[in-house]
Amino acid sequence: MAGLLVLWDIDYTLVEADGVGRRLYEMAFAELYGRPLAIAPTEVSMAGRTDRAISMDVLRLAGVPDPRGEVGRFEAALTRLAPAVADLVAATGRALPGAAAALTAIAALAGRAGPRQSVLTGNVRALAAAKLAPLGLAPLLNLDVGAYGDEHEVRAELVHLARRRSAAAYGRRFDGEGTVLVGDTPLDVHAAKATGARAVAVATGHFTAGQLAAAGADAVLADLTDTGQVLSAVLGR
Ligand SMILES: [Mg+2]
Repeated sequence: MAGLLVLWDIDYTLVEADGVGRRLYEMAFAELYGRPLAIAPTEVSMAGRTDRAISMDVLRLAGVPDPRGEVGRFEAALTRLAPAVADLVAATGRALPGAAAALTAIAALAGRAGPRQSVLTGNVRALAAAKLAPLGLAPLLNLDVGAYGDEHEVRAELVHLARRRSAAAYGRRFDGEGTVLVGDTPLDVHAAKATGARAVAVATGHFTAGQLAAAGADAVLADLTDTGQVLSAVLGR
């Protein structure tokens, strides 16, 4: 039996937590290498990329030999230290307008065959939880079936992982357009298109509605504030 799996991106789609990821990278780097992470924020592109990909860039730019060999250790440090940034999220982050209402409205449709919701994010899982929980969004998502940025460098590969986990958890398949990705960057859209999923784009990050449409999004929203519009875009009707 087919179902509908809605996979939400986190940064600039559900939440704005500026500086939190960077703070965590600084903490992990200092702990592992005993020196401050001295690279400018503008040197590494983060939007829509996975922590695996970002970590390798950061390690290379910081002069760490063998970034690929070191990345597992660095990700483990990110995971270990992530709970420590939850306070920073609570103090400086925010859920984007309409995010909680959209998650709640989709959750309300979840009968036996209704949509299931999780995340597909470049964040390592512990950082995802540290961003969602303080802002009240974690209870609306099944984080166990999501896919995370330390599981593969390439975002599209995370779609396969989330589908497999969801199929095992819910006893139904989420092939093709049975999966919907909601995200704010062309990389979110590309991950959906590469795996036959539908792409709903939200222009609340660093990309315009025009850029997201050009990337191939099936639906583009200015933001999540109109819950009815979000439901139509996600359900494809
Ligand atoms: Mg994002």
